[in-house]
Amino acid sequence: MYRTVAQLDSQMQSLAMWFPGYFTRIRLPEASVQGRPVHALRLRAGGGPERRGVLLVGGTHARELMNPDAVIELAVDLFVSYATNRDLVYGGKTWPASDVKLILEALDIWLVPCANPDGRVHVMTVDGMWRKNRATNPGTSCIGVDLNRNADFLWGVTQGQTSCSPCSDVYAGPSAFSEPETRNVKHLLDTHRIVTFADVHSYSELILWPWGHAPTQTTDPKKNFTKLPTPKCQPIQVAGYQEYLSPRDLQRFQTVGGRIRDAITAVRGRTYTSEASIGLYPTTGTWSDYVYSRHIASSSLGKTYGFTFETGPWMGTAEESFHPADPRPVIRDAKSGMVALLQQSICAIELIGARFFRAQAEVKALQQVRDKLLSTTDAGRDWIELFERVEGPAVLAMLGDRELLSDTAELVKRASALSKDDATELTDDEVDAGLAVVRRLRSRLEDPGLRKDLRAIETQLEALRGTPMSKAVERLMATPPGAKAPARSGAKGKAGARG
Ligand SMILES: [Zn+2]
Repeated sequence: MYRTVAQLDSQMQSLAMWFPGYFTRIRLPEASVQGRPVHALRLRAGGGPERRGVLLVGGTHARELMNPDAVIELAVDLFVSYATNRDLVYGGKTWPASDVKLILEALDIWLVPCANPDGRVHVMTVDGMWRKNRATNPGTSCIGVDLNRNADFLWGVTQGQTSCSPCSDVYAGPSAFSEPETRNVKHLLDTHRIVTFADVHSYSELILWPWGHAPTQTTDPKKNFTKLPTPKCQPIQVAGYQEYLSPRDLQRFQTVGGRIRDAITAVRGRTYTSEASIGLYPTTGTWSDYVYSRHIASSSLGKTYGFTFETGPWMGTAEESFHPADPRPVIRDAKSGMVALLQQSICAIELIGARFFRAQAEVKALQQVRDKLLSTTDAGRDWIELFERVEGPAVLAMLGDRELLSDTAELVKRASALSKDDATELTDDEVDAGLAVVRRLRSRLEDPGLRKDLRAIETQLEALRGTPMSKAVERLMATPPGAKAPARSGAKGKAGARG
């Protein structure tokens, strides 16, 4: 029913051998505690330099047997859909072939189906309820470290379900990243541009995101984990402590988590909950907190949005919940959720930029406007949310329309040039070029919600004629989509002349 470690390994090997244009198998730097090799698989279609990466990890906890199977099956499903140009169907959820095509052509998908092979072998041969790896702990007969407590994020702070006792199922280990199995996953984060990460666990039907150690607050960036005292083997010492999460990132976690939840519900009606990890129970040293915390702990590192899936419902007994006799329905749910996560990791501007002019500078300039300015106000974040709703379908439409794509690429170039010079005014030509692209896009999209979003962009564009660039961004920061654009003083040109 469940793949053995050897079967998972040989499936990865076969995929890489038969379809080297799509799959690359990488042996991670370290063998497991008991000497087993650990592999990652990269899936992508087409060539080109390194892309935005998504890393999906299965099998961190040994007894959660479903997820290594789900991760490897997802790889096969995506590849078959791409190669045959067929829709991907999971129960009541259909992912169009065009969505899959975009995912495989825009992203590098990194998969570690089985991060803890020793644990899986132990579960399949000795003890069906084993959770940790199989490390020996000096001075005790208790075996194993909890690999989802071993990362360098408030490591060893025994908040909630985290322990310093080697005999505990949630033992954090002798030091952060003491285990080869966790260092392997860290290696991928250190050596590739991973923008989204998910560690896939069971069970409880949850989509979890930071933070796990404390409730979240969005008002005081100075109150963050880098300043928290971390006495080893004690809980957090600050009474009522709340961890900072920027409003923009909270919104992003909620949006992406909601899309994952909806993609799962569409399969067969299961209702997952998307929430901060602490909603399950408090923890430290977990993967999803660690990967997201990296850019805060070290400003030279890129941001990675970290998620934890808890797949499957309570099935009456722990054994049946961790490894049901028939895992297929839960695996289908999980795969649909992972496709949603992949889709949400595509960045339209980056994709267009890479396709049309190797213009990382232009892309960066626009991302700066988004991250440093728009993200700081409620209205600005509403615009970001709108762009993120529109960008996936928009890119799909553009890929089927060369002219629209090259017009858009031209726009990205001009917009980024403008964003560098605050005093430059938006000319009628620029506004008209923007309107032409948005209208053409609107004529190609049928979804009424998306058409409404594009109308909101048109209305705002019209209102920006003759506005200096600095003022234009300010206006977006002050005026949410759909709000009546403020009256312009001294407007030039032919605003409002068109319908
Ligand atoms: Zn788990």
